[in-house]
Amino acid sequence: MPSSGQLTWDAVVIGAGPAGATAARRLSTSGASVLLLEKQSLPRYKACGGGVPARTIQLLDDLDISPVSEGFVDTIDISRFGQHQFRKTSKRPLAWMVMRDQFDQFLTELAVGAGVDICDAAPVQSISGLDDCYQLETPTGTVRARHILAADGATGPTARWLNIASAPTHSAAYEVEVAAPHQALDHWHQAANVDVGYRPWGYGWVFPKEGKLSVGVVKAPQHGRTIRNQTDRYLSRLGLSDAEVIKVKGHPIRYRRSPNEPVAKDRALLVGDAAGLADEFTAEGIAYAVHSANLAAEAVLTSDDPAAAYTRSINREIQPELNAARTISRLYYWCVTTWPWLALKTSKHINYLWRAFFQVMRGDTTYAEELSVLPFGRTMTQALSGHT
Ligand SMILES: Cc1cc2nc3c(=O)[nH]c(=O)nc-3n(C[C@H](O)[C@H](O)[C@H](O)COP(=O)(O)OP(=O)(O)OC[C@H]3O[C@@H](n4cnc5c(N)ncnc54)[C@H](O)[C@@H]3O)c2cc1C
Repeated sequence: MPSSGQLTWDAVVIGAGPAGATAARRLSTSGASVLLLEKQSLPRYKACGGGVPARTIQLLDDLDISPVSEGFVDTIDISRFGQHQFRKTSKRPLAWMVMRDQFDQFLTELAVGAGVDICDAAPVQSISGLDDCYQLETPTGTVRARHILAADGATGPTARWLNIASAPTHSAAYEVEVAAPHQALDHWHQAANVDVGYRPWGYGWVFPKEGKLSVGVVKAPQHGRTIRNQTDRYLSRLGLSDAEVIKVKGHPIRYRRSPNEPVAKDRALLVGDAAGLADEFTAEGIAYAVHSANLAAEAVLTSDDPAAAYTRSINREIQPELNAARTISRLYYWCVTTWPWLALKTSKHINYLWRAFFQVMRGDTTYAEELSVLPFGRTMTQALSGHT
């Protein structure tokens, strides 16, 4: 445990993923004393496609991530269980390709450079509230903090310990990194496959990296037991059954569905996946992790009631996006499972849909804005956003 010579940190951040590393850096840059505690030894691998939506870079103040980028994707190749395949290309990159151990380490090193103290292989084991601070126990010692930023991911324990009942809805996701043959690497150069058709919703993906492909499937949790077999079948359709497997890992993704699901209490704020800030259309969460980290740091730095300030800003800036993504998800996956041939043929020819999706990925617009211009969009989103 770093010895800072101080009794109580302004903030202890739990978890060194994109949410935790970004929140810690923001706070430290503004002069707060910050300790970042990470359960695993760093750098750590995280099951993830490693597609960083281009809009994330704006949220990181145009950070140059080229030291850890393994290329980009500007083309989406859509198929349904390998059939009805077609491609659409954006004029600019849609997502940067990273391996999460390197990307998260990069963000963590920036935080350390900004003055954050860090302790890895230091799982927080319990938290108790004292009069004016929190006390956290780790195997290597006890620390005290005026604020807690819980960025401990979709399975982290902090929300439970602090009784912040958050985001119960989740999906199952499964990731395989394969050393693909040259032919496959050439085929997927700057292109991602999105393979739809899973019921009631979900998709398979291929993301190209340097010398390898990240292949995975995300599905509704009640169908999670079949996810391994489905990933194997997907690999087989891609002609990758015999490719060398470098890594295999599954992990849940959680979704906040309503502004009433708590994301904070007193001086403890849940950030990123810990708060269920991933969207139900693409299942991506990195941009929301960074965005919520920015909002959490701002609330801690500027408000006497950070829980209320943070909840307001999440409900204003992120929840409308999650609601809109959920509405789009319902419509899209219903169409591709109910009338697959017609849905794929139609979506191939409606260029507005592609333009809008590409602009959302790049941060030029939002799902909520795009949906609100459709006659039924706003009503559907409102109707669905109250449901859990
Ligand atoms: C298979 C899969 C594929 C995905 N693909 C994409 C994608 O391509 N693009 C995208 O944008 N999103 C994707 N996501 C979602 C994305 O991975 C998450 O949204 C993102 O990792 C959230 O970041 P985070 O910082 O909130 O949490 P995490 O990255 O999960 O980090 C949480 C950290 O907290 C640590 N921790 C947990 N408990 C403790 C404790 N008690 N004490 C200390 N530390 C603790 C963990 O070890 C971990 O390092 C995918 C998810 C899955 C499962």
